[in-house]
Amino acid sequence: MHVLLIEDDLIEVMKLKRTVSKLHLKHTIVEAKNGEEALSLLRSGEKLPDIILLDLNMPRMNGIEFLNILKSDELLQYLPTVILTTSENRADLLKCYQAGIAGYVIKPLKYEDYEFKLNAVLQYWEVNQLVKG
Ligand SMILES: [Mg+2]
Repeated sequence: MHVLLIEDDLIEVMKLKRTVSKLHLKHTIVEAKNGEEALSLLRSGEKLPDIILLDLNMPRMNGIEFLNILKSDELLQYLPTVILTTSENRADLLKCYQAGIAGYVIKPLKYEDYEFKLNAVLQYWEVNQLVKG
């Protein structure tokens, strides 16, 4: 799959890439540092990702702002978007589900738990029928 990772923390970006390569998964990871960068990437005419992994706390345009724009876009609204965050804030959780997310995953502190969760998310989306195009 083509995965768009929207995350401002470089350590988190490296962690995801490391996990994908460690699990020998053949996914391509494209990165964006915030919602603004992600939107310009999605609107650049390049091939759209299969899924989006989205952080919530980011400068410039945060995850929820990005999500609301995405879900009101005629074309981009079909991109399954999974929140990947440390925020257990219930208000965030509600806003995200209301906006139409495809999942909400709290990043565990232990690396093994992180790897397990990420693997589960990627495997699940890999067997799903996606809208595409
Ligand atoms: Mg962040």
